[in-house]
Amino acid sequence: MDLLNLAEDYLSGGVRQEHRDSTGSAVSGAEDSLEGIAKEIEACRKCRLCETRTKCVPGRGVRNPKVMIIGEAPGADEDRSGVPFVGRAGQYMDKWMDAIELSRDRDLFIGNIIKCRPPGNRDPFPDEIEACRGYLERQIRIIQPRLILSVGRIASQFLTGSPLGIGRLRGHMYEYRGIPLIPTYHPSGVLRNPGMYRKPVWEDLKAVKKFLSDNG
Ligand code: URA
Repeated sequence: MDLLNLAEDYLSGGVRQEHRDSTGSAVSGAEDSLEGIAKEIEACRKCRLCETRTKCVPGRGVRNPKVMIIGEAPGADEDRSGVPFVGRAGQYMDKWMDAIELSRDRDLFIGNIIKCRPPGNRDPFPDEIEACRGYLERQIRIIQPRLILSVGRIASQFLTGSPLGIGRLRGHMYEYRGIPLIPTYHPSGVLRNPGMYRKPVWEDLKAVKKFLSDNG
């Protein structure tokens, strides 16, 4: 729980005061936990994706990571395993992280905007993003990453609040709820067209590395 919540709880006479996320779901500021959020996601029926998912994918990684990577939605491999970014795109993204000396076990939390796979890997619908956004907001509040790396257009537009395409968004630094944010291309886009996207992604990864060493 952050200091502001603590102060609010103190002023209102108790540490078990209910908080609400932006979707109106009740959130206990005193007791919110990643494990609790993951359980809620498993039971979630707020949108149609619960009908077709195999497993939901709440996200995985360490608290207070150097970087929180946020993608769009689970794909087929993630839907089967319940673990984010384990398919071909995820394995490629692991190589990006190796290149800047970050590891899943030590330095990262990896998650998505949407916690259940859209059928056929279609883009998430706006009402699905809206239904799921409270989970991500609560996760970020608990995880408190030093930096967010958003991968792909959907995650980057959602987190920056900008309608610009990813080619225009990348190359700049933003903030999400006071946390520095760097957008870049999605690894599956880079795998499809490495000639076009590898170089800008490398620039973005160098910006991540520089941010971490300047703000260590
Ligand atoms: N693509 C994403 O955006 N997220 C995953 O977890 C896997 C693939």
